Amino acid sequence: MLRLSRQTIGYLSVLAGSFVLAMLAGWLGTPIDNNAYDWMFRFYRPQLQAPQSILLTIDEASLLEMGGRAHLRRALGQALDRIAAAPPKVVVLDIILADEGDPAENGELEAALRKISKLVLPCELIEDGQRWEDPLDRFRRWAQAVGHVHGDPGPGDGVSRILPLEKATERERRWALALEAFRLSRGAAAIVESPESLQVGDIRIPARRSDSRALRIRYLPPSPEGAFPLPRISFKQLRADPGLAARCRDKVVFVGETAQTELRDRLMTPYSHGLYMPGVEIHANVFETLAQGQFLVSAPELAVVAACLALAACGVMIFALRSGWQAYTLAVLLLAAAHLLPYALFTNHIVFPYFAPVSSAWLSVVGAAAFQFVAVRRQLRRAEAERARYQQAMHFVAHEMRTPLTAIQGSSELMGRYNLSEEKRRQIAELINTESKRLARMITTFLNVERLSAGEMELKQEVFQVQELVPACVERARPLAEHKQIRILVEPLPEAALTGDRELMEYALYNLLTNAVKYSPAETQVTVLASADGDRLRLSVRDQGIGMDRQEVRKIFQKFYRTRKAEASGEAGSGIGLSIVEQIVTHHGGRIEVASEPGKGSCFTVILPFSQSRQDLAKLAKEQTE
Ligand code: ADP
Repeated sequence: MLRLSRQTIGYLSVLAGSFVLAMLAGWLGTPIDNNAYDWMFRFYRPQLQAPQSILLTIDEASLLEMGGRAHLRRALGQALDRIAAAPPKVVVLDIILADEGDPAENGELEAALRKISKLVLPCELIEDGQRWEDPLDRFRRWAQAVGHVHGDPGPGDGVSRILPLEKATERERRWALALEAFRLSRGAAAIVESPESLQVGDIRIPARRSDSRALRIRYLPPSPEGAFPLPRISFKQLRADPGLAARCRDKVVFVGETAQTELRDRLMTPYSHGLYMPGVEIHANVFETLAQGQFLVSAPELAVVAACLALAACGVMIFALRSGWQAYTLAVLLLAAAHLLPYALFTNHIVFPYFAPVSSAWLSVVGAAAFQFVAVRRQLRRAEAERARYQQAMHFVAHEMRTPLTAIQGSSELMGRYNLSEEKRRQIAELINTESKRLARMITTFLNVERLSAGEMELKQEVFQVQELVPACVERARPLAEHKQIRILVEPLPEAALTGDRELMEYALYNLLTNAVKYSPAETQVTVLASADGDRLRLSVRDQGIGMDRQEVRKIFQKFYRTRKAEASGEAGSGIGLSIVEQIVTHHGGRIEVASEPGKGSCFTVILPFSQSRQDLAKLAKEQTE
């Protein structure tokens, strides 16, 4: 099974947290995304071809000259008359011709419309989007197409960034005015649809059906002097100089009002900084977007999510793998990358949200840096504590070893210096022997702990019976118990087998037994009991000894820890026995429970997974002999 360190879990939590927060921030960050979009729009100017359209406008001066809107159709008829001979490629009217109007003026306008070979007229949704308001039939019959004039300004700020190329009532769908103009300018008979795009001639327009065929408008940038880039002639100028009509030759002419008084049909654009652009000019810009063919496409949502996740992962990895100035340098680079990513993609015609990736990078970097700071401090504290404990241990070991060493030294000196009787010599030799064995045992135990905790010790995989393990340990501990007149009682044991290292397991149980004896007063009883609990074996050693309080119980598995009472009793050993026991048991897939009360005794229970049942064992033994 995959074991994760606390540190890894910490970093993973930072990653998950920053990613989720960034995604949430992404939802709320639309105004910031839009601002960033407008800023990139102003900053990055792509190479564009010369405009293929021209504006024929009714500005304030023209309105004044023609005597107001009442005579708009007459003025329109005259203007169209003047340009008809140029001839323009397509003429697009952004003036709704739905109301009855003046019959005489209507006649003049109709006569002018007849002369235009390719004409697009506008229509509008009315009655809450239920019905199309079309031009009068007498005008409509001269038009090759009718297109809708609805923009789609941003809901929060009213800035026109996209335009739906398709609008529909329940019964009838219409293409956008500019799209129809584009189709006619390319001489295409139809607009071919697919779920992802529209095809006009050999131009593919990336506009998804699921998004109402929304198209991001690539506004022509204003020239450095601030003049508008689309060429334009006003009605008044055309009347004063009919020769200007030649400028409409082979152009797509967008005709509409630009007078400031016509406030209804104006929107802001990413370029306009508070200035409004007349609707007719927005339509002309939509047409130019189509004609230029440099479409701005939104990045797929999945790609945005993946990028945010990748940025958050990088932020966390930096601090998980590096520290100090290296980590901070990398973090700064990552943040710079996150800030520049949307712009880099924008220059490749891909629109990427700004807020989500940037907040993803910032949150992960700040989170991971803070976590590292805390983790490093914790590690430092732990290392210091470890060092202190180690020093203590060294002191202790030195002290413990001195006793047998002094005995050996003294005895050997005695032997060398004095003429001793044979009996005395034998006694001293025996003493030297037991003391040096004790020393060797101490060293082995000490090394075992270190090797087990360093993971260098391999566990053997033997199958052994509980009914054999327990008596063996009890027999070894019995002399010690008898010395204190302590009775060791073994309750009936279940038939169960364990798998693992029998020697280590014996060491563990023996340790619990000797502890029970060591920390109990004379003439008490130590009980060993075992029971099967589901697929687990519970093996307990219970004594009637000095016991421990809760805080002490929490610490006894630490290396070199000994309770005050144990120290006072003069029985305490090196304080590492239980730490070895715990390691042995966990290496066997088990755990230890301790129940204890000061003065009332303790009960240590080892819980281990069963190996096979007796039948399985018999089978195993048979297989082995075969
Ligand atoms: P030691 O060699 O000191 O016995 P251990 O690691 O085996 O080392 O035990 C650690 C400490 O836990 C002991 O010093 C003692 O204070 C306490 N302890 C262990 N077993 C018992 C017990 N059965 N009753 C009371 N205290 C115990």
